[in-house]
Amino acid sequence: MSDTPPSAPPPVEDLGDGVWSLTVPIPGNPLGFTYVYVLTGSEGPVLVDTGWDHDESWEALVRGLKQTGHEVEQVRGAVLTHFHPDHSGLVARLRAASDAWIAMHPADIAVLERLNASPVPDRLDAITGQLRRSGFPEEDVRALRETPGLLSTPAVPDLPLADGERVDLPGRDLRAVWTPGHSPGHLCLHLADGRRLFTGDHVLPGITPHVGQFPLLSEDGDPLGDFLTSQAGIARLPDADRLVCLPSHEGRFTGLAERTRRITTHHEERLDEMAALLARGPATLWEIASGLPWKRPWERMSVRSRHMAASETAAHLRLMEERGLAERTGREGTPRWTVRPA
Ligand SMILES: [Zn+2]
Ligand SMILES: [Zn+2]
Repeated sequence: MSDTPPSAPPPVEDLGDGVWSLTVPIPGNPLGFTYVYVLTGSEGPVLVDTGWDHDESWEALVRGLKQTGHEVEQVRGAVLTHFHPDHSGLVARLRAASDAWIAMHPADIAVLERLNASPVPDRLDAITGQLRRSGFPEEDVRALRETPGLLSTPAVPDLPLADGERVDLPGRDLRAVWTPGHSPGHLCLHLADGRRLFTGDHVLPGITPHVGQFPLLSEDGDPLGDFLTSQAGIARLPDADRLVCLPSHEGRFTGLAERTRRITTHHEERLDEMAALLARGPATLWEIASGLPWKRPWERMSVRSRHMAASETAAHLRLMEERGLAERTGREGTPRWTVRPA
C-alpha cells in the first residue's frame, strides 16, 4: 500500500513535471526532516512549506533550491500546510532573502497571531496551570517550564488561503484543500495538473498524525472529530487512488483512501481503549493518559512527549463527550472523566 519510508532520503529529488522534493533537517528531533517541495511555474518557483528555523535547515533549503536551478531570491511564494515550526519556521529568513508571499489557511494564521500577541511568560503560566489542573506531578510541571525553545513562535504569513482557492502559481493548477484536525487550518494541496497531493502532516504513510486539544482542558472545538471528518473528506477527492501523495515526513505513497481508513480505525480503537479505562471509575487527564499504552512507555517519555500524549488523550475525551460517551465533572479544580450512563 505504501512505500517504505526511506531511512536517509536524498537531499534533492526531481519528481518530474517541475516538482522537486528537498530534505530540510530538523536538528535534534526524531522526525529527522521535513520535505519542502518546489513547484516550478512560468513565473518563479513556489514552495510547499519551508522547514525548521535553524542555520543547518536554512542552508539545506538554499543549497537544495540551487540544485533545482533556482536562487532563493527567485522564490515567488511559499504556501504552508500548517503553522507548526517544522513547516513554517524558516518563513522569516525566506522573507528577508526574497519578495515571496507566504500563504496559509486563515484558521492557522489566527493561531500564530494569538501566539505572537501573548508574552512568553504568560503562555508558560497558562500551560503549566493546565498541567497542574490535569493532575501532572510538580516535577513534570517544573521540567516542562525548563524545556528550551518550548515556545518559539514562527512569523505570521501575509496571504490567507481558504478551502478550494487556487495558489498563485501561474501555469499550474494547485488548489487548497482544508483538512482541519492536526491543526485548525491544516491544508493539503492538490496539484490537479500533475495528479499529486501534498498531504502535509494530515496523512503520513506510517505515523498516525498527532491530534491534540490545546489548551489541554479546553471545551472549545473538537479537533479529533474534525480530523476524522477531514480524513474521510480527503479520501473523496475525485482521483484519490490515482494520486501520488507527497507528505511532509517519511516518504511518498499511493493508496490514499486505504491509508485514511487505517488512520481512522486506529482512533476508533483508541476510543474503545479509553472507554474501558473510564469504566473503572472517575479519572483525571493524567491518570487516563498515563494508563494508556504508548509506543514508548509513559515512565520513559520526556515531559514534552507526555504533554503531547496528554493533549492527544484530551482530544479523544472531547470527541467522547461530543458523542455522549463520556462526562466531565469537577470543572472548577481538577476535572475527572467517567463513562456516561446509557
Ligand atoms: Zn504538524
Ligand atoms: Zn510536521
